[in-house]
Amino acid sequence: MATQETVEHKYVYDFAEGNKDLKDLLGGKGANLAEMTNLGLPVPPGFTITTEACKAYLATGEEPDGLADQIAAHLASLERAMDKRLGDPEDPLLVSVRSGAKFSMPGMMETVLNVGLNDRSVQGLARQASGSADQATGGADRFAWDSYRRLIQMFGKTVCEVPGEEFEHALDDVKQAKGTHNDLDLDADDLRGLVDAYKKIFFKHTGREFPQEPREQLDLAIRAVFESWNAERAVLYRRQERIPADLGTAVNVVAMVFGNLGPDSGTGVAFTRDPGSGAQGIYGDYLANAQGEDVVAGIRNTVPLQELERLDKQSYDELLGIMARLEGHYQDLCDIEFTIERGKLWMLQTRVGKRTAAAAFVIAGQLVDEGLIDLDEALHRVNGAQLAQLMFPRFRLDHEFQPVAKGIGASPGAASGKVVFTSARAVELAAEGESVILVRRETNPDDLNGMIAAQGILTSRGGKTSHAAVVARGMGKTCVSGADEIEVNVPQRRFVVAGQTVNEGDVVSVDGTTGKVYLGEVPVMPSEVVQYFEGSLDPEHIDNALVRAVHRIMSHADARRRLAVRTNADTGADAARARRFGAEGIGLCRTEHMFLGDRRELVERLILARDNAEREASLAALLPLQRADFEEIFREMDGMPVTVRLIDPPLHEFLPPLEQLAVNVAVAQERGEDVAQEEALLAAVRRMHEENPMLGLRGVRLGLVIPGLFAMQVRAIAEAAVTVTRSGAVARPEIMVPLVGAVQELETVRAEAEKIIAEVVGDSGVEVLIGTMIEVPRAALTAGQIAEAAQFFSFGTNDLTQMGWGFSRDDVEGAFFWRYLELGIFGISPFESIDRDGVGRLIRIAAEEGRAARPELKLGVCGEHGGDPDSVHFFHEVGLDYVSCSPFRVPVARLEAGRAAVETDGSDSR
Ligand code: PEP
Ligand code: MG
Repeated sequence: MATQETVEHKYVYDFAEGNKDLKDLLGGKGANLAEMTNLGLPVPPGFTITTEACKAYLATGEEPDGLADQIAAHLASLERAMDKRLGDPEDPLLVSVRSGAKFSMPGMMETVLNVGLNDRSVQGLARQASGSADQATGGADRFAWDSYRRLIQMFGKTVCEVPGEEFEHALDDVKQAKGTHNDLDLDADDLRGLVDAYKKIFFKHTGREFPQEPREQLDLAIRAVFESWNAERAVLYRRQERIPADLGTAVNVVAMVFGNLGPDSGTGVAFTRDPGSGAQGIYGDYLANAQGEDVVAGIRNTVPLQELERLDKQSYDELLGIMARLEGHYQDLCDIEFTIERGKLWMLQTRVGKRTAAAAFVIAGQLVDEGLIDLDEALHRVNGAQLAQLMFPRFRLDHEFQPVAKGIGASPGAASGKVVFTSARAVELAAEGESVILVRRETNPDDLNGMIAAQGILTSRGGKTSHAAVVARGMGKTCVSGADEIEVNVPQRRFVVAGQTVNEGDVVSVDGTTGKVYLGEVPVMPSEVVQYFEGSLDPEHIDNALVRAVHRIMSHADARRRLAVRTNADTGADAARARRFGAEGIGLCRTEHMFLGDRRELVERLILARDNAEREASLAALLPLQRADFEEIFREMDGMPVTVRLIDPPLHEFLPPLEQLAVNVAVAQERGEDVAQEEALLAAVRRMHEENPMLGLRGVRLGLVIPGLFAMQVRAIAEAAVTVTRSGAVARPEIMVPLVGAVQELETVRAEAEKIIAEVVGDSGVEVLIGTMIEVPRAALTAGQIAEAAQFFSFGTNDLTQMGWGFSRDDVEGAFFWRYLELGIFGISPFESIDRDGVGRLIRIAAEEGRAARPELKLGVCGEHGGDPDSVHFFHEVGLDYVSCSPFRVPVARLEAGRAAVETDGSDSR
């Protein structure tokens, strides 16, 4: 008979066999326990069952072959190490069975403590503990029976799905009978009685006795931990945190140590630095005579860790030594859980600790100073989302403020002010020095002045790329959009939320980071990091650890990055601010934003012109205004490239609303007034009315349909560049044509533009580039042809996403994205972070084919994604030359471009 050699899969690792790099297999907790064991630190002995075993179990509902034997073998060696046997009636070894996935999922999965206790071993435990347990809390018997009742409670709930409240009620009943609220007042007899009550509850729900066989307890507990990977709350948590669903959890089986054996025992948590500020020092809490779960339950108050020095100097000194060692070893902030059992210190857990955004920067800077990490690593350890958080003013929420509504955090920051419902009122009140919050159902370009005047913007409709959101982000202004619990009534100047009416002039506070809306004024603190970027805090001369760390890490990011960072700016003021924030040019100047306010009428007349004379008059009036706009920007950006996009408004933004116009005409007719002019206007607006303005007459289409419009803009750009250059500054204009889908469109515009440029520029030395946006899928797919006519491409990822997915950018986020996110169709809105597989593929194709046709083709991106951290990494990978984003996101893009370079191009020795 042929023998078949079977190589047994290894499912169980002793702590001595693992290390910190095996998180995939051993989970975070198991890998770090192994690491500490191998460092020679006092870790209770134990072993880890791998995530592979969990996955195999979850796939089949059975433990995989060999697992039971491997557990038996490791249990035997654990028993030898402890010189005790699991559940031994005389001197039982007890174990904890703890979950531990690759990524921390706090409280989401299960733990069972005290496995190995039964009706007999509880007596042995009491005998072993006698003489050492604290008499004040009921002595050794009390300790043993309390441990047993905890096992039945945890096991019943976790392993056998007995409703937890039943145990809690039974405990309450015993306390009530005793006339106390405090668990510690219960003595051994009370707890013995409670064990009986718990066993009855267990029997009632499971139809069986509480298992007395220790190995059966262990096996069932292990299964329960495996299964807790798919518990509803764990699934939801993973979805929210974007943790993959197929990782599985490891299970750690660890010899129990007890912090509740008397005053010489206790339990605590510690951080090697302050996770709030990053400051060095000793941070932690300690609770004498307690187990970890008591700390969580808040039964008694903890004391600061420093108190331990007085209570148990030896353990304290040892702990401090271990903390220093762990920091040096992990080269990072560690958090730690420990227990002291009768004066002996045990380490129960460590991991690289979570921290606030400020602490992340400060700690990274400190570790560089201490020589533990280099600047590349420091850059890797912070991220753009953290920097963004640090750049916005925050609410000081130490008082009890309850939000009344929650919308989309569309543009971060914190703002309080008087509610206004119209742009005009916002401007009026702001002029009186009031801080105002502009509240609208949704905003449109007419609200621009009000948005500028307001401290914050609140809308009840629209998503992250709605008009309000995009414009607010561009201005760095706080905005909450799509807060649909708010019913806005503009004519009556009030809104209703949660049954309360808020009138014009009442104060509200909006948090653009969380999307929360508060009634009344919540105090606000400004950002020091912005003050630093603005140049009002000098990192060399102020004693501010955060600002110094940000300065240092940003300087390194700039030194390392391959992507240039430009800004989207339409005014001199925005351009100036973006320069202070480190922008190296303008990647998108949206000229339609220059046609609002007073000039709107000129554009309306242009669009509705009945003859050449009318049209030319409008264009002639617009030309000097545009020229002045461009001069201001070119001067501000002296020497840096400025991409000016020819006008691209959806037409409806510039025409009077059809319904309103129709009503006005009807009313006037009714009154017998002369309405010939209004009727003509109405007819024109009807003619131009579009069902889908976003897919209608905009961008290059408008330029081709309305004679002279683009020509006027090209002339204004060229003339402004010449004027600025003649005055001694350097203008570097790049003219960009929007919404091109076919090379013929671009060629037509370009031919006309080149003639005008040649005529205006003459021998001034000004060089004007002509390129196009790539924002229509067809343009991406025919990029090779389009590159023949373009000196640069700039990806308009807002429209490319809109047209790539067929999602209306103004509507869908508020309408149904919640469902898509819930279903996991995507983890984040594709308008926020680039969809690599779909829209990203279009970008890759266009970049490759464009460069193949024209190797010197400049490539950039100017959609909202240009300032999104993940997307910046993608643009780096694709090999773009620059990203362009709103001024406030420029530092974030610089940082992420630096990180992308370090991560994909590898470290250098700087
Ligand atoms: C874009 O579509 O990504 C873009 C930058 O243009 P706009 O947002 O102005 O349509
Ligand atoms: Mg666009």
